[in-house]
Amino acid sequence: MEGEETGRLSIRERRQRQYWDAGPQDFLVEAPPFPRKVMMELSNGCNHACLFCANPHMRRRVGRMDPGLASRLIVEAREAGAEEIGFYTTGEPFIHKDLARFTAEASRAGYRYIFMNTNGALATPDRARPVLDGGVNSVKFSINAGSRATYEAIHGRDEFDLVMANLEDMSRYRREKGLDVWLAVSMVITQPVANEVESLRQRVLPFVDEFIAFECGSQVGQMDVAERMLSVGREAPRNQSICSQPFTVLYITQEGHLDLCCIDYHNYLAVTEIGERHVRDAWNDAAFRDIRARHLRGDLAGTLCGTCWQGCSQRAEPLRPDLATSINKEDFDRQVAALIDARLSSPADIGR
Ligand code: SF4
Repeated sequence: MEGEETGRLSIRERRQRQYWDAGPQDFLVEAPPFPRKVMMELSNGCNHACLFCANPHMRRRVGRMDPGLASRLIVEAREAGAEEIGFYTTGEPFIHKDLARFTAEASRAGYRYIFMNTNGALATPDRARPVLDGGVNSVKFSINAGSRATYEAIHGRDEFDLVMANLEDMSRYRREKGLDVWLAVSMVITQPVANEVESLRQRVLPFVDEFIAFECGSQVGQMDVAERMLSVGREAPRNQSICSQPFTVLYITQEGHLDLCCIDYHNYLAVTEIGERHVRDAWNDAAFRDIRARHLRGDLAGTLCGTCWQGCSQRAEPLRPDLATSINKEDFDRQVAALIDARLSSPADIGR
């Protein structure tokens, strides 16, 4: 394994390290130091509609982060001490036409690690090459099937060949230009594609540094219906410990709200608005200290964190209803199930 100084840690290694290398006692407090890692939701829109993902069912208004706000936050978070910045949470980063500009701004601001996750369909050479030139350190393609037919069933778009072409071009471009960009592919394993993991791995390994496959989950409880219908594994055990996210990572929604989690499609965990404040001052405001105290006490019933982390059966409500889009979970679940049934009952009866 290469050293962290070289910036060549794999995505899996970064995930394992990010929470614990400072020692739990250093950050499990109501007012922790400004986090090393920031993630910005440039847009909550997505051009794909994956069966395991809540995005296609999102009721929140789709938008793009104001470019002036994004530029300001990139600089402020770096000033506050952030070293890593990711340009995605619930949506597709290439939806934002200024993605390459933000990547370059982050590079100039001095971030050590600039990363993103994309479905890859919009990462055509004319869009992707400026992003690479801008200084991105890691791009992960989310490709959740190993064939054109199953890809269309899972992603809802017949773009498997397009995505592969974009991946191959990005790989070729970084080699030709000598760019130190980590390329990865991740795959969510669902029943229809359970026997395609190895074929996808073999298909993409000539072009990428890392292939990551993981089982379909419930997206912090929002997609429990999809997990039951699509998962190949057993239900994940509930956690006894404290979730590190609210203490170690800052998530910023496209509206400019500071959020506890990257998988929060309806802003149920939006804690506070950034407004005119420096992001350093917002990180430990009263609302953040309050929700972190609840995490430390295990007092999370009625929140999405309680549903996710502790398996609370009580219905989740937004922390700040004025910043969120409230949904009817029963209606939401019916819509999720209907889409899965419709897609997987095609004439080919894909994967079943
Ligand atoms: S406990 Fe909350 S912050 Fe942590 S992963 Fe779950 S929803 Fe996200």
